[in-house]
Amino acid sequence: MAEYEYETHDYDVVVVGAGGAGLRATLGMAEQGLRTACVTKVFPTRSHTVAAQGGIAASLSNMGPDNWQWHMYDTVKGSDWLGDTDAMEYLAREAPKAVYELEHYGVPFSRTEEGTIYQRPFGGHTTEFGEGPPVQRTCAAADRTGHAILHTLYGQSLKNNAEFYIEYFAIDLIMSEDGQCQGVVCWKLDDGTMHVFNAKMVVLATGGYGRAYFSATSAHTCTGDGGGMVARAGLALQDMEFVQFHPTGIYGSGCLITEGARGEGGYLTNSEGERFMERYAPQYKDLAPRDYVSRSMTMEIREGRGVGEHGDHIHLNLSHLPPEALAERLPGISESAKIFAGVDVTKEPIPVLPTVHYNMGGIPTNYWGEVLNPTAEDPNAVVPGLMAVGEAGCASVHGANRLGSNSLIDLVVFGRASAIRAGKVVDPESANPVLNTASVDKAFDRFDTLRNANGATPTAELRLEMQRTMQADAAVFRTDKTLKEGVDKMTDIAAKLGDLKVTDRSLVWNSDLMETLEMTNLMPNALATITGAEARKESRGAHAMEDHTKRDDENWRVHTVSRVDGNKVDLTYRPVVTDPLTTEDQGGISLKKIAPKARTF
Ligand SMILES: Cc1cc2nc3c(=O)[nH]c(=O)nc-3n(C[C@H](O)[C@H](O)[C@H](O)COP(=O)(O)OP(=O)(O)OC[C@H]3O[C@@H](n4cnc5c(N)ncnc54)[C@H](O)[C@@H]3O)c2cc1C
Repeated sequence: MAEYEYETHDYDVVVVGAGGAGLRATLGMAEQGLRTACVTKVFPTRSHTVAAQGGIAASLSNMGPDNWQWHMYDTVKGSDWLGDTDAMEYLAREAPKAVYELEHYGVPFSRTEEGTIYQRPFGGHTTEFGEGPPVQRTCAAADRTGHAILHTLYGQSLKNNAEFYIEYFAIDLIMSEDGQCQGVVCWKLDDGTMHVFNAKMVVLATGGYGRAYFSATSAHTCTGDGGGMVARAGLALQDMEFVQFHPTGIYGSGCLITEGARGEGGYLTNSEGERFMERYAPQYKDLAPRDYVSRSMTMEIREGRGVGEHGDHIHLNLSHLPPEALAERLPGISESAKIFAGVDVTKEPIPVLPTVHYNMGGIPTNYWGEVLNPTAEDPNAVVPGLMAVGEAGCASVHGANRLGSNSLIDLVVFGRASAIRAGKVVDPESANPVLNTASVDKAFDRFDTLRNANGATPTAELRLEMQRTMQADAAVFRTDKTLKEGVDKMTDIAAKLGDLKVTDRSLVWNSDLMETLEMTNLMPNALATITGAEARKESRGAHAMEDHTKRDDENWRVHTVSRVDGNKVDLTYRPVVTDPLTTEDQGGISLKKIAPKARTF
């Protein structure tokens, strides 16, 4: 057994992650006087949320009529009827409150002439239950909304005495024999010391796993660590086959150009200069949802109408917009286009390509952020002591496809909800759990094995194999054949985790070891993604199957529940929650309105 000395820290709540979700949870916990620690592998304001550009959705009606029922309808339809209806109602209803809270905490939103929060149109956000024109619902701080939110939440968390453990890498959860989460084992990256956090509640807010793919808009730190920890604890992941490709990653680098660019009037063209989205989505055109636009772009390229020397990408045009508007509303992406594509957006189009952007799937939770351990008897059973929020979690409000600007609102609404719930279930007067030392030892053993790994496969090599396979075989369009081959390849690739080679054995700033730990987290996420995709014989949202082109509600309006053990994935299914929180006569939405129907734009 590996012997590591460690320091123990007792808290009421430990939040793992300091992105928008982690910080909103941390702030909410600390505000109520819970002793709260926030553990993060990167400095809080370097979390991926800082890169969020376009904005955060809430039906404030600052720029025209809007209401939460319309927002809820769009989210239900956007999810292709796979989202949980109670959670989607909670999201749309609480969104305005959560945004006004952000405003009062100090987020410097852009303003209208009247001084209210500026809102822009975004894909899939409409009026009149999808019958009316696009709505301006996305609240923005220029094209640096995530940056503004993250900095404000960090300041507020400090003000409320939350304690930060920065550049601490969470390795594994500590679980009791009877399945309660008791804390988390961490490695302090800058001095090599080990730390055990003992808590009455652990909140995973570790973000997405975009880096399971070769080309992604997300930061290199988005490695699905929460999902990895959960899988190793024998718990479930949900709906992992639904991976969002953003239509406008910069060709080559994958850097994001926000959908806000189309919200402000930008449009896509093919090699014939045609605005082809008018053919695919006559009503909403370039502002159709992301899965729709990504597929349309891919079709154009396949049919020989791509742009560039190899005909393998598409143009995003902004040069018709007034230069002042570009400077005021889209300064960040104007700069990115210059740096990463060498393009002056006031004069030339930006070369773009659908790029992996967001994970709809994640750790299953209810709308309070409590992690679920679905069983046949109880599909909604809660894991005591464990929550998950943000992109790491799956509440599920995005179902098979997320609408743009619905993630930032998910972070703050459910970060806040987890704090409200913790205020009820965590007793600050009670004693901390007695740690299951077997679980702590297991975490150190795994760490030590990886630290001393002396096989034949360097981490970077195996990671690249995984990324290329995911990129090729679990892409925008999928077939039975590519997915079957993908599952076989990924099963072999995952088996090579036992043959890793780590060259640096030190404990201080050992990036080789850290990347290895991250890869052991990416792998179960990737395996669950491709296995769940292969099993789902229908097309829904971001999961577009060429051999099964129709959505099949009778057989497949269910959540995929995957448990990953080594290179094996066990799949079961959990019913979708179809009842909203309130009925029509309680002021809620009519069931008829949100009943499944064909999803056209
Ligand atoms: C370029 C880009 C632009 C986007 N723009 C928008 C937008 O305009 N609107 C919108 O709604 N959505 C947008 N999204 C999506 C949205 O920004 C993300 O889904 C969201 O920011 C994720 O937030 P999070 O808090 O869940 O995780 P993150 O912000 O990714 O933070 C994860 C945190 O977990 C910590 N962590 C992870 N693993 C460990 C570990 N093992 N130990 C310790 N700490 C750990 C990290 O240090 C970090 O603090 C965008 C995404 C990208 C990539």
